[in-house]
Amino acid sequence: MAGGEPLPVGVGEDGRLQLPWLRAPLDHAQRLSSSHALLLHAGVAVGQFELALALTQGWLCERDPAPCGQCTACRRIRQRAHPDHKVVVPDAMRLAYGWLTEDDPVLRAGAKPSRELRVEQVREAIEWSQRSAGSARGRALVLHPADALNHAAANALLKTLEEPPGSLRIVLTGTDPERLLPTLRSRVQRVRLPVPDAATATTWLQQQGVAEAAEPLAAAGGSPIEALTLVGEGIDAQVLRELPIRVSRGDAASLNGKPIPRVVDLLLKIAHDAMAQSVGATPHYFSADRMPGVAPLASLQQWRQELLRVARHDDHPWNAALLVEALVTNGARCWPPSAARRAGRTGHSLHSAG
Ligand SMILES: [Zn+2]
Repeated sequence: MAGGEPLPVGVGEDGRLQLPWLRAPLDHAQRLSSSHALLLHAGVAVGQFELALALTQGWLCERDPAPCGQCTACRRIRQRAHPDHKVVVPDAMRLAYGWLTEDDPVLRAGAKPSRELRVEQVREAIEWSQRSAGSARGRALVLHPADALNHAAANALLKTLEEPPGSLRIVLTGTDPERLLPTLRSRVQRVRLPVPDAATATTWLQQQGVAEAAEPLAAAGGSPIEALTLVGEGIDAQVLRELPIRVSRGDAASLNGKPIPRVVDLLLKIAHDAMAQSVGATPHYFSADRMPGVAPLASLQQWRQELLRVARHDDHPWNAALLVEALVTNGARCWPPSAARRAGRTGHSLHSAG
C-alpha cells in the first residue's frame, strides 16, 4: 500500500469524528453490516468521504464497531499503510492530498491530473481485492467519488460489486445516484446522508474561524464543507451579499481570478434565484433583499444555458479573465438598466471595485 502523506480526514487519534454531524449516519451505516457494497450519498458535500473512511476504519478496527483511533489497525489506516484498506480517488485529488508527486509517470508532461476515476485504478483495486486478506476482519475498499467513475471504470467494477471476492466490503460515495450506471446502482445499497441543520453547521463553521456563516452556508446549498471552501477562496459573507447586484450591473470584479468552475457555479446560482423570483418563488442561495430586480425569465434561461455549456467544458483552455467578463456581461443583459437602478436605490450601496 502506498505510504506518504496520511489520510486528510476521518477519525482522529481520540476516535472522534472530525465532522460531528456524521455520528448518526455512521451508527446507521454500521448497522447495515450484511451489505457488502454501500453507496453513501447526499445532494451536497456533507462528508461522504469522511464517513466512508470512518466506516471502513471501524470495520478493520481491533475494538470495533466504532473506530477507536488508537489501535494498530486504526493507526495504519490513518498512515495509509494498512494492507487490507484501500482508498481510490482521482489523480487530481491524490495530487492535492500529497499522495502523488508532480514527477509521477501518471502525470504525463503537461497533462492535467485526471478528475475521473480511471479504469486502470479500478482494475488495480480489483487485483488487490483478489489477494487473500491479511487479517481476519477482511478488506475494505473506498471509491470516492462514484460520480467520477468514467464509463469503462464503472463497467470494470460491476462484477466485483456483484460478487466481492472473499470478505471484501466496498464503500462508494456520491451526490446523485440517478446519474450512475443503472447496473452499478442496482448492485449497491444506498445510504442517504442528511444535510446538517443550520445551527450545527454554523457552530462548526465558527469553530473553523468563519464568523459570518449564514451567506456562505446558503450559497453552498447547506453544505458546511463547501461553505468553508468558499470562504477559503475569498468568497465570504460580504462578497456574497453584494454579488447578485454586482453581476446585474456587469461588475465582475469580485469573481476575477477565481477558478472557472467556481465562477460558473455562483453565476448559475444567481440565475437560479433570479428565475425563482421571476415566477414568484423564494431565492435559495442568496438573500431575497440582496437580489437585483426581477428579470425576464426568457433572458435568464438563455444566460443559464450559456453557463451550463461552459460548465460542461470547464477543462478547455479558456482565457479565464475574458470568459468571466463575458459571462457576467451576458448576465447583466438580463436586467434592464432601470431594474438595476431600482436595486441600487434600495440602500445596498456597493463599494467601488476600483
Ligand atoms: Zn481502532
